[in-house]
Amino acid sequence: MENISLDLLEKYDVQGPRYTSYPPAPFWKNGMGPKDYETLLEKSNKAPAPRPLSFYFHLPFCEKLCLFCACTSIITGPNHTFEDPYTEALLKEIEWLRERVSRNRPVVQVHLGGGTPNYFSPENLERLISALRNKFQFAPDVEMGVELDPRTIKKSHLSTLKKLGFNRMSMGVQDFDPAVQKRIRRIQPREMVGDLVEDARNKGFASINFDLIYGLPGQTPESFGKTIRDVVEMNPDRLAVYSYAFVPWMKKYQEKIKEHQPAGRQKFELFLQALRGLTQAGYEYIGMDHFSRPGDELTRARANRTLWRNFQGYTTKAGTDLIGLGLSAISQVADGFMQNDRQLYSYQKSVLSGTSATVRGYVCSTDDVIRARVIQNLMCHAVLIKSDIETEFGLTFDAYFAEALSKLKEMEKDGLVNLSAGEIRPTSTGRVFLRNLAMPFDAHLPKPGEKKVFSRTV
Ligand code: SF4
Repeated sequence: MENISLDLLEKYDVQGPRYTSYPPAPFWKNGMGPKDYETLLEKSNKAPAPRPLSFYFHLPFCEKLCLFCACTSIITGPNHTFEDPYTEALLKEIEWLRERVSRNRPVVQVHLGGGTPNYFSPENLERLISALRNKFQFAPDVEMGVELDPRTIKKSHLSTLKKLGFNRMSMGVQDFDPAVQKRIRRIQPREMVGDLVEDARNKGFASINFDLIYGLPGQTPESFGKTIRDVVEMNPDRLAVYSYAFVPWMKKYQEKIKEHQPAGRQKFELFLQALRGLTQAGYEYIGMDHFSRPGDELTRARANRTLWRNFQGYTTKAGTDLIGLGLSAISQVADGFMQNDRQLYSYQKSVLSGTSATVRGYVCSTDDVIRARVIQNLMCHAVLIKSDIETEFGLTFDAYFAEALSKLKEMEKDGLVNLSAGEIRPTSTGRVFLRNLAMPFDAHLPKPGEKKVFSRTV
């Protein structure tokens, strides 16, 4: 991996999906609504074995804007008047779902994401989780995770979250270099992060995840190398090291930090700093930006080919329905996807009137389901066993995917993948280019020259 040439990087540094879903969200259809969502929920309720549930709450508010942000967020300043009406809307959504989801389906995962979940008061977070617990049946080993912002969290948040059953926390660290933090307008000194980690550990949070970003303006291999060393000292259980998603056509304010952005070999060198530093410290590279400790569930799931990928990244909870609540939230139910309204007021108006806020989505064809499985396996298992797909879907792999296989031949010549009669196995270099390796299996990708919709793959 150290010897990847600039030519190779340039060749594969293209726009491509992150494949948290297939088809990727830009290809879903507008105009789907509550009836379509109800149909999917009914279908899923009828599965022969009760399908477990994973709940995601999108809590979109933040007090200040970080200039690199690509999330669906609403910046309010210190004014929190949005919080109570939004909480009421989420409670209504829980009720709507309760009437449409079978009670025998266990909740195995709950995640609060944002925005900033700790923008909400501990009391409002407690109202949400208590309502969910009252209406659904939680599995004894339910995994409960929350994204926290060390700049705004209060001591009472952690105590309340722990009392409610949260056992995992995730924090956006990005980079500890003060100069980079100043540029991206997110001042968050190392000590501040360290204090939150210590507090969470003392309170018994079992798993701590850090998110870092490479490719931010002003980052250098030296400064990012130091961030990695500082991070290793704090010993998080998992890390995601994301390529900066520079998408100014969606997030105009990113234009303000377009100068001094590392690119090409310089940007890749930043990723190598993370890869070297973290693997030398004993972390395993799971693939697609993620690292975990050798004994971690994610590492074990990857080894035994049960690792899964959804909108929250890698997970061990394969085969669950993901139910998203809140504005813009995505649900993945049976063989379809549904997304809520992105506008605050119309989202709230819909759910408060007793319906869902579904406005777009996609119901997968059989071909989509097959391709989704191929992409999922490539992304999660670091190998695609052709007979797994043949057995599950009753097809002949080489015939069904003849076009994709011929595109992969070029990537094989470039040293990204080994193709054999029985399997497709990314090389260690190819594991950095998993998005590129998945793209030949994608039947929805825009043709060259069509509108830009994705961030860059490297
Ligand atoms: S706190 Fe997170 S969601 Fe909010 S603006 Fe910053 S990066 Fe975006």
